[in-house]
Amino acid sequence: MPEGDTVWNTARVLERALAGAVLTASDFRVPQLATADLSGWTVRESASRGKHLLLRVSEPETDRRLTLHSHLRMDGAWRAYAPGDRWAARPAHLIRVVLRTATNVAVGYHLHELALVPTAEEESLVGHLGPDLLGPDWDPDEAVRRLAAQPDTTIAEALLDQRNLAGIGNLYKCEVLFLRGISPWTPVREVPDLRALVVLAQRLLTANRGRWTQSTTGSLRRGETSYVYGRLRAEPCRRCGTRISRADLGERVTYWCPTCQPGTPQLHPARR
Ligand SMILES: [Zn+2]
Repeated sequence: MPEGDTVWNTARVLERALAGAVLTASDFRVPQLATADLSGWTVRESASRGKHLLLRVSEPETDRRLTLHSHLRMDGAWRAYAPGDRWAARPAHLIRVVLRTATNVAVGYHLHELALVPTAEEESLVGHLGPDLLGPDWDPDEAVRRLAAQPDTTIAEALLDQRNLAGIGNLYKCEVLFLRGISPWTPVREVPDLRALVVLAQRLLTANRGRWTQSTTGSLRRGETSYVYGRLRAEPCRRCGTRISRADLGERVTYWCPTCQPGTPQLHPARR
């Protein structure tokens, strides 16, 4: 599940593969960039902002600067290959862009929101985002301020709103609410300690930087990496043995333990 940590890792993969190198070819397989050609351009750096990827390039003669923006959503990925490697990560029809240097090939699969904009105008794509949990601008007080400005929204939906804080997806949303014992349906105004919640989220994402297996439990063993997220067939809670519940909340499925996280809609029918 591409959340902030996965996107951060992906930005590092592109940094290692491309940064400082001259692109020898580019191949965009999306209509809006069909005529774009970055061959001869230098890759300056690769960065992440929340769940957005920003690959910054410049044209040596003119010093024009552009940013290639991409978003992984649920299913996108970038992979770096050596020249001559088989591009085996995903089926070829999912390829949206290929960037080549003398020593590496970066292939973007099923990317979303692919756009090439002047670097000076990056903010038009990512300026709406709240503080980035894994960014140099991380500011828990600002994240709390933005969350608190939506007092009647459920905490589950507020945590997923990237304008409040950037980088949390459905996995971390479910897991931090479990770890803090908060029902996903709790309105923001009733969450006892918003700061502790966002600080914990930042700690969990940070702990998963640099590896592709996302774990909130400390275990990297298959089937043991989460407390509630993705636990199907009413598996028992790791803490209390109650069956984990699963329901739609807003646009996403949410998982929770009814005992460890009391306060489901049935207990507060007025909030539905
Ligand atoms: Zn429980």
